[in-house]
Amino acid sequence: MGSKQKFKLNLNWIVKEEKDQISLNSPYGEKKKYTPSKHLLEFLIIKSCINQPKSLKLITQDIQNVLNVSQKEVENKISELLKAKIFSYNTTSGNTFSTNELDRYKWQLEFFTSFESLKNSKYDIQNNLKNSHIAIIGIGGQGSIIAQILVAMGIGKLTIVDGDTIERSNLTRQLAYNDSDIGKYKVEVLKSRLKLQNPYTKITPMRQYVTSKKDFMDIINGKDFVILCADKPLVKLGRWLNKVALSERIPYLGVSGNWIGPICIPFKTPCFECVLSHQINKDKDFEKYLKTLEKLKEIPRPSFGVRPILSGTLMALQVIKYLTKVMDVEILEGRFRVNIDLTTEFEKIKLDNNCKACGNTK
Ligand SMILES: [Zn+2]
Repeated sequence: MGSKQKFKLNLNWIVKEEKDQISLNSPYGEKKKYTPSKHLLEFLIIKSCINQPKSLKLITQDIQNVLNVSQKEVENKISELLKAKIFSYNTTSGNTFSTNELDRYKWQLEFFTSFESLKNSKYDIQNNLKNSHIAIIGIGGQGSIIAQILVAMGIGKLTIVDGDTIERSNLTRQLAYNDSDIGKYKVEVLKSRLKLQNPYTKITPMRQYVTSKKDFMDIINGKDFVILCADKPLVKLGRWLNKVALSERIPYLGVSGNWIGPICIPFKTPCFECVLSHQINKDKDFEKYLKTLEKLKEIPRPSFGVRPILSGTLMALQVIKYLTKVMDVEILEGRFRVNIDLTTEFEKIKLDNNCKACGNTK
């Protein structure tokens, strides 16, 4: 703990202070009670910073007036209170944000206080988003929603890739576009919408289709994370990205059919080829089906508007959690799909040691 570091009660708690008792109530119904007879040190620490954030040194001085205790003991107890989300940091470390940004991200930063630790302040966590450069390939139903969410939450740089123009039949699910956009290029329209949404994100449009590994190489170069929402050419696209992402060690999230994930962290979590082997092991006919798919130019895609919006939102959730570096990600070793009856299916997938793309026994 640095000497300038200040601590405060977490904003989530509603505090009631009585002579011999401090009660904390959260809006979610959680209750905590501290009394001098049962929790003397906690009681004194909380009492000391009930009205203003204080440093470890000041808290210790307050307590030493009434109790014989070392600074180390106070420090340990504060660590426990931080872990239990009773306390949070009142820190400006990592705060490189403008007043406007602090205002914009105010409640998100408060949310991040629950994930603060000695190493990471809420500003550091927000900075992990700000310092990320993400590429989204395919900005239709899922991709455009993901882009809107990432930009709203404060991703620093976003590259969007698509060669399509907006069609009237897109409008049931691609909420970023409207009737007056029909015939315009998706990347151009989305760029202008996203700039209005959050001027602090730098948007780079790439008006093109991905037709080779070389295209992927150009797109993913310098990115921290890649999201693949396009699906043509079928199967090949996933294979190309997989190969290039593994060679460049860039993590990515892909979709195959209705299944989403896993997030492939090269050589740590299952890659696209691991997923295909998993599917073939489950279903012997899948290999034949894959070969047929690869020959097809297109498959008809009936679409129920809310479904890509829902699955895109869940994809954004997983990507954001991954980028914060402090939150658990559910699809590092598994994939999911969303059904319209409010259920999601989850399937565990293991890294395949014999995988021809990422396995260690090539
Ligand atoms: Zn693999």
